[in-house]
Amino acid sequence: MDIRRVVLIHPGREGRILGRGTGAPYTLMRLAALVPAEIPVEIWDENLECLDGRLQQLGPNDLVGITSKTLAIESAERMAGIAHRAGVRTVVVGGAHVTLASEDVAGWADVVVTGEAYHTWPQLIQDFIHDRLQPRYHDSTWADLAGVAPITDRVIRMMDENRRYWTPMMEITRGCPRNCSFCTAIRVSGQRMRLRPIDEVVDEIGRRGIKRFFLTDDNFGLAFRTDPAYIEALLKALAPLPLRSWTAQAEMMVSQYPDLLRLAKLAHLDKLFLGFESVNPANRRELGGKSKGQIAQYREAIKAIQAQGIGVVGLFVFGFDHDTPQTLVDTWEFVRESGLDSVSMTVLTPYPGTPFRDQLVSENRLLDRAWRYYDTAHVTFQPKSMTVAELERAYDWFCRTAYSPAQMALRGARALGRHTPTNMPSKLFSSFSTDYGYRRTYAWRHAADGRLLNAWGGDLRLNP
Ligand code: SF4
Repeated sequence: MDIRRVVLIHPGREGRILGRGTGAPYTLMRLAALVPAEIPVEIWDENLECLDGRLQQLGPNDLVGITSKTLAIESAERMAGIAHRAGVRTVVVGGAHVTLASEDVAGWADVVVTGEAYHTWPQLIQDFIHDRLQPRYHDSTWADLAGVAPITDRVIRMMDENRRYWTPMMEITRGCPRNCSFCTAIRVSGQRMRLRPIDEVVDEIGRRGIKRFFLTDDNFGLAFRTDPAYIEALLKALAPLPLRSWTAQAEMMVSQYPDLLRLAKLAHLDKLFLGFESVNPANRRELGGKSKGQIAQYREAIKAIQAQGIGVVGLFVFGFDHDTPQTLVDTWEFVRESGLDSVSMTVLTPYPGTPFRDQLVSENRLLDRAWRYYDTAHVTFQPKSMTVAELERAYDWFCRTAYSPAQMALRGARALGRHTPTNMPSKLFSSFSTDYGYRRTYAWRHAADGRLLNAWGGDLRLNP
């Protein structure tokens, strides 16, 4: 079959801030880079524009790929329906949700792609051209990251991400050897820490012309312990680049590596997002050995990291079996006196493919909620030590308290105050932006509750 173009679609719900998307769809950029140069390729991002009109212009020679997180899978189905009505014959669906629950999309996707797809996607394109498509492609290899889908100059030009997005995404490591019972990342990316060659990282930053980035790595900080020589070489390679700042996810044990933290600061690392998860020590079993609820240690870790000039964003999850509303009162106490730069609170969510979800199913505690509620801001299961209403009220109270303008201003001013007067103007944005982003997400998700709109006002319900 003749192929007119490949269209890769990113369903979104967050919309734009001041005309720009929050984060560019990084995985789609890498998949677009695997499309042979002679075939036109486009990336459509629902966070940037309503796609309904463009979907209606698609035709049978367009190969359409949609990626989706669990919370956006209904939006993906709606878009696939519009594409099919426009005459598209092949809608390919891949991504984390499909990898963890492929049966969920079997009824409306023409082709299901599970796994990382770096090996199967080029094959799928060839099979489309030669009329031999399979209903399912499964990539069972954990690809060595060396040479995997370097973003091409064609994709860089097409995305124009410095103008259209606030925060470019970047990947340096993938995988995490921990085993948190609620985590989807290890079920999609594996438990072996994989590392990108440093020269490829440096090359990509240079060609994309990015000055800031957010690392998508599941647990970048764990490589401080597992691969310190690699981290040292990486940080030394990043230091001379004209970067303004970057951020990464880690756990508090990075505070035990002051030499690497010093190098990280010189390499323009601005903030670490630390997964504390819980201040409740009774939850340690669910946290895969990562976090033990020992708040004295949390305080020490925050201080040690900030002492190197690096900000700390505290990530917390609420709703574990031993949690009660008092857990959030204790968490807020900790946040107030800990000196954290920003804070994220999410509701524990039983994503498909996780042991946590299996446990809830066996205990008959899963609520009958559509996937769109799996946004970490809604309750989708029956908690063990409180009611659903108590969990909701406690979460709402925490967010309203933590993201009040006064508290955000306090944390932002404190973060800004750690910089030298010369650096302050360039750090003004990043000192306040993380809290603002969390506040906006919380407020938007709850404002839209009951109507369940996508970013452009379209109703997400398939049969409203
Ligand atoms: S530490 Fe983070 S990435 Fe690793 S298993 Fe736990 S939640 Fe997942």
